[in-house]
Amino acid sequence: MAANEPPFADVPLSEVQDALISWYRTDHRSFPWRETTDPYEILVSEVMSQQTQLGRVVEAWEAFLERWPTVDALAAASRGDVVGFWSEHSLGYNNRAKYLHKAANQVLTEYDGEFPKEPAELTELMGVGPYTANAVASFAFNNGDAVVDTNVKRVLYRAFGVPDDDAAFESGAEKLMPEGTSRVWNNAIMELGGVACGQTPHCDEAGCPWREWCQAYHSGDFTAPDVPAQPTFAGSRRQFRGRVIGALQQHGPQTLDELGPRIRIDYVPDGEYGRKWLEGLIDDLVDDELVEWDGEPTDRRAKLRS
Ligand code: SF4
Repeated sequence: MAANEPPFADVPLSEVQDALISWYRTDHRSFPWRETTDPYEILVSEVMSQQTQLGRVVEAWEAFLERWPTVDALAAASRGDVVGFWSEHSLGYNNRAKYLHKAANQVLTEYDGEFPKEPAELTELMGVGPYTANAVASFAFNNGDAVVDTNVKRVLYRAFGVPDDDAAFESGAEKLMPEGTSRVWNNAIMELGGVACGQTPHCDEAGCPWREWCQAYHSGDFTAPDVPAQPTFAGSRRQFRGRVIGALQQHGPQTLDELGPRIRIDYVPDGEYGRKWLEGLIDDLVDDELVEWDGEPTDRRAKLRS
């Protein structure tokens, strides 16, 4: 097999892909629009989510679909009613309601009531930009390109060192997505950026499936295009304490030099982040009665307290 091109040259692409999809399938936040492949229902959810928190969108989305359950029903509604609904539910700019109503009419008159399946055609609908078009094509028809939003950029930048450049993000995201999987993949990578790789990352707590390959996880540098300064948690002792506990759980008692490289990729026994630094970290955990030293001082191992 040909070597992967940068920035994935050293990354086992299919393992990375499988890990993310199975992480997403095992557990994800459930939103009702993730359970449907109806393009109309998905379009409504996407337009509503542009300005409103997802939690609040659920109620509005359900009420909207109860009132106008199909694209035909929405097209037949009066524009004033749709705009009225939008304001009542505090869904942001009323123009979005007008555009949605107009788009429903376009689907009826220009596409015989059937949504187009290609992202480029979907952008012909009123108020539907490239991002929304791609989301509808992905989630309704499994026919989209790789989504690139702020969350996805953050993940690609941290995990694989994709440079902060729109063209690089587009091509990186596309290379990473397994062919023909836009529905599950785009959901999964956005979920990763939403629950694990947020501005303050929760790599271990969220069980991020990419820890093994993630550059930021190994270096402790969690800056990102939308996180110019280190988030307070990133690179902090708290984070490394968590990693020590995780490594002791997984591999049992260990000497400093066994443990160090498992905690950070830049561990060098006599370096800045070497034995002395790690010993201090473990001593804190000993004070907190989470870890204990075992064996002779010259050959001691850290282990979890039973
Ligand atoms: S390991 Fe952490 S920083 Fe890396 S992709 Fe996962 S959540 Fe983001």
